[in-house]
Amino acid sequence: MNADPGDGRHVRLLLGAYVLDALDAEETCRVARHLQLCDGCSRAYVEVAEAAALLALLRTEDFGE
Ligand SMILES: [Zn+2]
Repeated sequence: MNADPGDGRHVRLLLGAYVLDALDAEETCRVARHLQLCDGCSRAYVEVAEAAALLALLRTEDFGE
């Protein structure tokens, strides 16, 4: 919470919903803008995106059961 880029709150808690495209337009815009400014959240976003892709894969593999 120390390295604040000036845009107020960090968006890590929103990244999961952002990756799943589950935010409203205003929040999506805020997250996108924040990711351009904030290295920490950008890195977190990459991890969340990879995790989401992995989960989607697992879900597909589990489908047979
Ligand atoms: Zn941030």
